[in-house]
Order: sequence, then C-alpha cells, then structure tokens
Amino acid sequence: MLTCREVTLLLSQAQDRRLSTVQGVRLHLHLAICKGCANFGKQMDYLRQACRLFVAESPGNDPAA
Ligand SMILES: [Zn+2]
Repeated sequence: MLTCREVTLLLSQAQDRRLSTVQGVRLHLHLAICKGCANFGKQMDYLRQACRLFVAESPGNDPAA
C-alpha cells in the first residue's frame, strides 16, 4: 500500500508524465480509501484544467517562457 506521501508525489508526477499501470492502480486504490489524497487529486485536476483554460484563452502567453 502506498503512503499518503508517495501518493501526493505520484499525483504531481502524473501531471508531467504518464504513470505505469501498476502505479495507476495503486494510486486509485489509495484514493478510494483516503479522503485527504482524493481531495488533493481533485485539486490537482482542477488546477491543471484551470491552467489549460488560461493558456487556451491567452494565445500571447507562452507558459514555457
Ligand atoms: Zn492518502
């Protein structure tokens, strides 16, 4: 079983790269039983979507710059 610390780390890494199937399954298992990490995951999703919207609506802004 992953610890909460490992789960938050995986969630942040998942923003940049795809997790392996095993990592994904472990992550979802933990999120199913841990409210704190589930909330953290939702916030990460929300932030990522908000960033995408912001970039999409600001063609002059290069996020990599
Ligand atoms: Zn947790």
